[in-house]
Amino acid sequence: MVRYVYDFADGSRDMADLLGGKGANLAEMTRLGLPVPPGFTVTTEACRAFLTTGAQPDDMAEEVGRHLAALEASAGRTLGQRDDPLLLSVRSGARFSMPGMMETVLDIGLNDDSVLGLANTSGSERFAWDSYRRLIQMFGSTVMGVDPAQFDEAMTLLKAAREAPDDLHLDASDLARLVETYKRLIIDETGAEFPQSSAEQLRLAVLAVFRSWNGERARLYRRREHIPDDLGTAVTVQRMVYGNLGPDSGSGVAFTRDPATGRPGLYGDYLSNAQGEDVVAGIRNTVPLTELGRLDPESYRRLRDHMGTLERHYRDLCDIEFTIERGTLWMLQTRVGKRTAEAAFAIAAELVEEGLITPEEALARVGGEGLARLMFPRFDTTATGEALAHGIPASPGAAVGAAVFDSAEAVRRADAGEQVVLVRQETTPDDLPGMVAAQAVLTSRGGKTSHAAVVARGMGKVCVCGAEELSVNVESRRFTTRDGSVVEEGTVLSVDGSAGAVYPGAVPLVASEAMRFLESGELSGGVVAAVARALEQADSVRTLEVRANADTPEDAARARRFGAQGVGLCRTEHMFLGERRRLVESMILAREDSRRDEALAALLPLQRQDFVGILEAMDGLPVTIRLLDPPLHEFLPDRTELAVRIAAAEARGGQPDAHDVELLDAVNRMHEENPMLGLRGVRLGLVVPGLVAMQVRAIAEAVVERLSASGSPEAEIMVPLVGAVEELRLARAEVERVLAEVATETGVEVHCPIGTMIELPRAALTAGQIAEQAEFFSFGTNDLTQTTWGFSRDDVEAAFFSAYLDKGVFATSPFETIDRDGVGRLVRIAVDEGRAARPGLKIGVCGEHGGDPESVHFFHAAGLDYVSCSPFRVPVARLEAGRAAL
Ligand code: ADP
Ligand code: MG
Ligand code: MG
Repeated sequence: MVRYVYDFADGSRDMADLLGGKGANLAEMTRLGLPVPPGFTVTTEACRAFLTTGAQPDDMAEEVGRHLAALEASAGRTLGQRDDPLLLSVRSGARFSMPGMMETVLDIGLNDDSVLGLANTSGSERFAWDSYRRLIQMFGSTVMGVDPAQFDEAMTLLKAAREAPDDLHLDASDLARLVETYKRLIIDETGAEFPQSSAEQLRLAVLAVFRSWNGERARLYRRREHIPDDLGTAVTVQRMVYGNLGPDSGSGVAFTRDPATGRPGLYGDYLSNAQGEDVVAGIRNTVPLTELGRLDPESYRRLRDHMGTLERHYRDLCDIEFTIERGTLWMLQTRVGKRTAEAAFAIAAELVEEGLITPEEALARVGGEGLARLMFPRFDTTATGEALAHGIPASPGAAVGAAVFDSAEAVRRADAGEQVVLVRQETTPDDLPGMVAAQAVLTSRGGKTSHAAVVARGMGKVCVCGAEELSVNVESRRFTTRDGSVVEEGTVLSVDGSAGAVYPGAVPLVASEAMRFLESGELSGGVVAAVARALEQADSVRTLEVRANADTPEDAARARRFGAQGVGLCRTEHMFLGERRRLVESMILAREDSRRDEALAALLPLQRQDFVGILEAMDGLPVTIRLLDPPLHEFLPDRTELAVRIAAAEARGGQPDAHDVELLDAVNRMHEENPMLGLRGVRLGLVVPGLVAMQVRAIAEAVVERLSASGSPEAEIMVPLVGAVEELRLARAEVERVLAEVATETGVEVHCPIGTMIELPRAALTAGQIAEQAEFFSFGTNDLTQTTWGFSRDDVEAAFFSAYLDKGVFATSPFETIDRDGVGRLVRIAVDEGRAARPGLKIGVCGEHGGDPESVHFFHAAGLDYVSCSPFRVPVARLEAGRAAL
């Protein structure tokens, strides 16, 4: 037989699935012998049954009745008994804490008769009427659906009429009048009366708590926190204890350590003569917990004892809710408490120190996202004024710069040494140079997976997106805030990507301690020591190596300081931009081989110097260099711009610039409807004569140069976008030919492993064949995600991702966290078949997912050798690779 109800004495903390966190922990505290008012918990299973069928399961009512009878017997009183009523609280509590999202009803069992009995036995009429009005208020809103604001309003009116500064100044007869007002309000609003039957109150309250699982607030919260919708809530029914019995009573919340910093020592708030909800509701000002030590030293001492017991038992920061009834302390709730990133690291390290947990457990309790948050510079929070606007905190950190409204302006000012904030409605790939140049990106549209957000996070750039209060006008180079103030280009802004806020002017910045430590190894104590210990632990247990995606010697050097074990992706296309664009243009435009060769020859020494620099920065560690990947027309000017320029020249009656005409011709020739699926990657190498040869020669000569400087260069050559083994065979032949050529010329043997990216479904599905030609694989999960799903990231994120997230098609964007079922399956197939064909095949990933905590866990499980991510994510990946290995 299914059991729907558990007495506190029958449950334990590991029954949270069934009893909810609150019910399970109340049971645990009961077992520990802490003073918990007795009660029982109706299971989440009963809730699920109720929510699917619309009726409570058959035996539930009877079981509740039996447990209630036992409670009554032990109390020696019955629910709602008129001379000395037993009162109950009915409390929600799900598997995962959803603070304040569902309902709780206190003081069940009061009615027009028992309120008098309660007044008698307690000796306080005021207390009895205060409890009754609380019941009607909570029951009226939670169970009967009256807008809670209506009750608040009635209370406010009464206080005004009585000139009472707060509820403590209302006496028994005031509160009795308020009860009448509330009851009338319920009739007016619902046409039904507040039920006088205690049994009916209890029954209805339990069902209302069940229903509150599907309340709008609760549903939104679950979506945001990725909590499944089908878990249901448990309902805990518990004997009331009274914090509103007078000045020697009260309620409070407390943490065993400071949840903001992790510092040991009790921390919390207390409110005397109050029932629980008052503490958080801000009805009256609470006092710090230490004040309780003065008001009621004995209860304070007990509280400290109990909290010590809890922390030792849970071996973690606990938060609790408690009530003192005429000098007797009662524990009403505990759970392992939420905390900031800083506190998470500090507490984990501290608990290891105290011998409560092992270093492995400590590692399990911190996370990569938290570490990333600690790495960003921050604003001096004492110096921020009123915010101009709020948006989605898409990429954490703090940045200051002048507002600019397009990419060109951002680049222009940044080149002149100015710090800028790129403000757009939303960004597109065209804005990339501007984003690179900017300190922060601010958009008025788009969510956490918008282009701006994803790219900014990848670059470790501050980003606030979807600041809908702003109306951005790119033409007139200004934006307007909600209150109508106008911000012109050049105005200095401060963007807080952690809080999602924008401030006028330059709020002073402070470099984070964690960043200073990672850059320099400088141990400044506090949280930094804790971070250092966690990273050390992670490095000692992880099997996954961590490399970085780096295109410049500076990035490579920084990545190395951050602990990278090589470069997993060096993109050569970035080396084709800037001043070299001219050379690239003429290479593309060349009609005769000789002109192309000239352009290639001019590019060769420049590329070689790039590679020398990176190989030097990563001396002794592998550097995977990817041959040119993007479509060539990306290096040519914009088609419309050119056409307009030519037309304008003609309109003026003059001759258009010959170079422009030639360019336009080339741009037209190379135009593709879907460049992402066009002439790029290995296709480019196979079609443009001399391109691969030039790049490979540059790499080989760089290796030779490093060798002659007594370095240990470990270049690896990676061919992008292969879909068929034949493509790789051809590319490989060319690579080997040039390597041999350079070896002959220089007399130095050049060993470069030749591998390929796996970023097309066909490559993954034929990985066994491809492995015969590849000495290593590197998953390009960005392209693999695009081609597996059949959508281009640049086009779809703004268009429908937020709708898909809302509708639950994705829990997170597949570009942020790897789609295990689809893309992940292809990864597994390729790993299996690749290694079957070539045992020991080295396999890594170099997509953006390489720095995403959840994805890192997947790659560990899939048996990869390394992940490669942006330099700023290297510490995050190290930490998560360690956690994945636990
Ligand atoms: P939430 O999940 O929103 O914190 P709770 O079920 O914890 O809701 O209830 C809110 C408050 O009601 C508690 O903090 C506590 O102060 C008070 N409360 C709950 N049960 C009792 C009880 N049995 N006796 C006295 N107060 C209670
Ligand atoms: Mg609570
Ligand atoms: Mg790619």
